[in-house]
Amino acid sequence: SYRKGGYHAVRIGDPFSGGRYIAQRKLGWGQFSTVWLAYDTLSSSYVALKIQKSAQQFAQAALHEIEFLSAAADGDLQNTKCVVRLIDHFKHAGPNGQHLCMVLEFLGDSLLRLIRYNRYKGLKMDKVREICRCVLTGLDYLHRELGMIHSDLKPENILLCSTIDPAKDPVRSGLTPLLEKPEGNANGGGGSSTMNLIEKKLKRRAKRAVAKISERRVSMVGGEASSKTEERSLDGIDMRCKVVDFGNACWGDKQFAEEIQTRQYRAPEVILKSGYSFSVDMWSFGCTAFELVTGDMMFAPKEGNGYGEDEDHLALMMELLGKMPRKIAIGGAKSKDYFDRHGDLKRIRRLKYWPLDRLLVDKYKLPEAEAKEFAEFLSPILEFAPEKRPTAQQCLEHPWMNVVSTLNKNADNVESHMRNLHIEG
Ligand code: ADP
Ligand code: MG
Repeated sequence: SYRKGGYHAVRIGDPFSGGRYIAQRKLGWGQFSTVWLAYDTLSSSYVALKIQKSAQQFAQAALHEIEFLSAAADGDLQNTKCVVRLIDHFKHAGPNGQHLCMVLEFLGDSLLRLIRYNRYKGLKMDKVREICRCVLTGLDYLHRELGMIHSDLKPENILLCSTIDPAKDPVRSGLTPLLEKPEGNANGGGGSSTMNLIEKKLKRRAKRAVAKISERRVSMVGGEASSKTEERSLDGIDMRCKVVDFGNACWGDKQFAEEIQTRQYRAPEVILKSGYSFSVDMWSFGCTAFELVTGDMMFAPKEGNGYGEDEDHLALMMELLGKMPRKIAIGGAKSKDYFDRHGDLKRIRRLKYWPLDRLLVDKYKLPEAEAKEFAEFLSPILEFAPEKRPTAQQCLEHPWMNVVSTLNKNADNVESHMRNLHIEG
């Protein structure tokens, strides 16, 4: 797709926006874009440069994303709301056409990479709690203050905050080097046409910087030898994170698409086409929280013999969460495709119920109490009736969010004990 209308081929050291930004290395890519670590010569800091494919529809999508990112930045001057910050945007002319580029604050690895890095074993509950607090802070801000629906929340679109300066230690700026082979130098092809002297100079300078970076590529988080393969400690990794990818965002009162969300994180009302609101993000949040705890996707529907992916998805939901209330099952524009008039699935007749709290204990070996607490937090978020789901704000106030770990509890006890002694003394 490095052709007309497609991706822009970037080489390390390429200048953007009149030389302000210098490409350093590729950070990731999506359907519509490639994302690069770039050096911002104006602020002397590192940024993420998202370069959109050039064809008209991609440019349109980028303008859309810029609109939503700008709104999010305007309402969050302190940059504390757990949403990625848009710093700048501009057009870049390349051999494949005009590319819209977004300059974003530089973040670390996605939660998907974190889950993979942890070998799909699930994270400790306290880590999950920290992540959930950030994501809920972001959602609360988007929903309540901006009236915005993200519509594509999932582990891939939540990035850890990178606490490390990539200039000082690019290797530890995330988990990346452990998870993937080094990416080599960009993608070849493309190539720029006329380059003036200043650009050439900038390029050479950036290349030297990059050479330094690649010398140290092989270390690992925490500096341990990379041959250790069994348990991977996440101790010391800061779980602060931010919501990214506003390419599918919409306004609560102005929606653009009927079919939203990535399959596995899609809410039942979207499948049934019953209309949706902010609570679709809460559904995706619930699926994401489950995945963090277990390492498995909550729902991974597959098309089967005589039924489609949608119907399997609905069946999986009911097996875990109980039967869908009839009114909801038959209330959508697509209900008749999947449900009979009693509210039973048409083609998948026998469901194997496995309630959430039992699943967490039996399959994922969570301690009973921990499983119960977490299931109590999660179940309301996965209500079939969208209006019954708690808001992000309500979730933030839920007891599970405010559990102090046993360790802290002990510390608190000691402290209050000492306080008592002090008072008595
Ligand atoms: P798309 O809309 O094409 O899916 P995303 O915005 O999700 O694009 O970005 C694609 C990938 O690029 C992400 O999954 C992540 O790996 C990387 N990325 C995006 N934004 C940043 C950022 N601000 N900092 C670091 N990496 C980023
Ligand atoms: Mg994405």
